[in-house]
Amino acid sequence: MKDANCIFCKIANGDIPAKTLYEDDEFRVILDLGPAARGHALILPKEHYANLYELPDEKAAAVMKLAKKMAVQMTEKLNCDGFNLVQNNGETAGQTVFHFHMHLIPRYKDDNQKIGWNPGEPTQEELEEIRKQIVE
Ligand code: 5GP
Ligand code: ZN
Repeated sequence: MKDANCIFCKIANGDIPAKTLYEDDEFRVILDLGPAARGHALILPKEHYANLYELPDEKAAAVMKLAKKMAVQMTEKLNCDGFNLVQNNGETAGQTVFHFHMHLIPRYKDDNQKIGWNPGEPTQEELEEIRKQIVE
């Protein structure tokens, strides 16, 4: 399914041009227009899924396989020093385009980017309470 109002549907299916690094029947990988670092790219499924929750299991598996392939190729060609995979779901988590995408972010020693969080300091009791909330 495609969404007529979705920019990533249009890009993924070639209706709006983008700098393409890879394409097959299921995915297009493009350079991000607002990169965190040189070579920052996005994996876009050609079908419209708003986020991870909507992504079918087989597609999720295929995304990770492609992410690995792209990370290996990009690391070799761009000679980067590290690599982040980032995937945002929901406005609170920083998602701004509501068509599932995986960020491929090459990292360089001097790139001055921060992709991370402020670590909390939960007690063992708090961790246990959270564990129970998730699994029970
Ligand atoms: P999100 O914040 O939803 O995880 O990521 C959206 C990403 O899409 C951002 O990094 C943004 O720079 C990128 N982006 C938004 N619109 C376009 C576009 O039209 N073309 C390309 N190539 N990237 C886009
Ligand atoms: Zn879409």
